[in-house]
Amino acid sequence: MKIDHSVYSLRLRQPFRTARSAADAERHVVIVRVDGGVGEAAPTPYYGETVETVRHALERYAPVLADLPPIAPIETASARMRAALGGNTAARAAVECALWDALGRWVNQPLWRLWGLDPTHVPQTSYTIGLDTLDAMQAKAREAEPYAILKVKVGGSNDLDVLRALRDVTDKPIRVDANTAWTAREAVERCEELAPFGVEFVEQPVKAHDLDGLRFVRERSPVPIVADESARTSMDIPRLAGCVDGINIKLAKCGGLIEAMSMIRAARAHSMRVMVGCMIESSVGIASMAQLTPLVDYVDLDGHLLVANDPYEGARCVAGRIALTEASGTGARFRSGT
Ligand code: MG
Repeated sequence: MKIDHSVYSLRLRQPFRTARSAADAERHVVIVRVDGGVGEAAPTPYYGETVETVRHALERYAPVLADLPPIAPIETASARMRAALGGNTAARAAVECALWDALGRWVNQPLWRLWGLDPTHVPQTSYTIGLDTLDAMQAKAREAEPYAILKVKVGGSNDLDVLRALRDVTDKPIRVDANTAWTAREAVERCEELAPFGVEFVEQPVKAHDLDGLRFVRERSPVPIVADESARTSMDIPRLAGCVDGINIKLAKCGGLIEAMSMIRAARAHSMRVMVGCMIESSVGIASMAQLTPLVDYVDLDGHLLVANDPYEGARCVAGRIALTEASGTGARFRSGT
């Protein structure tokens, strides 16, 4: 088995800012090809990964996967990568997704069908509005016309003004994401203030390690609380029980579709709601994660919608949903002419 990779610079349609990151105009991702399948690493410095660490990880994975046959046993490949190099979850996810894609293409079936999932049970995706001026955030809400749900980045200095401004231009469901911006006491206050604006839930109000803070907020907040930065892998979930109402799963955090499935099961076992999310990434990463959407309650797979030069296609948004099609594997295909 041989791993090929290319680095792509994804140009954002508009600069994107959160409470945790400066405004970005572009992001770099690594597209990985194995056995005719394709996967994507969307490295994030917050989780300790960059394009360089992904490249280094791929070099470390290559020798431990080299003797596996084409259409490799994916559990085995994944375990070998984990043993060769801990962490590096975005890099591992890229290889694992490429192997799943290769398997699907080989049997000429989409992954959702191989897993017995129902493509008509896909929740609508939210569309994310990054921190910006009130005018710019209103304009983004208007441009989000094709999407039924908005996810709004908060944690700036004027969250109430933001919600007020958005409610002037839209009556769509709004979810908010504070990206660890608040203390627990601030978070309770914010949740109380934001609740009257019809906020569906608040994502990651406090620091990732502050589980007591999450519990404090959840016990007092009028809106449900969802963990993102605090929920990296299935190992995190038992200790999050009672601290949050749900979790947000991302391939770049957990290391692949096998672990994503483990997280879904662990969350369900603890009566938590489940969301799948993404980084800024191309259609490759989005199409991979989209295969699991029939299993979840909330979908936030819009990273590719924020990109102006997506080199791939296969994660089309139809009637507000990332459509699961008959295309084999993850359905991601290189966009000819790019
Ligand atoms: Mg988040």
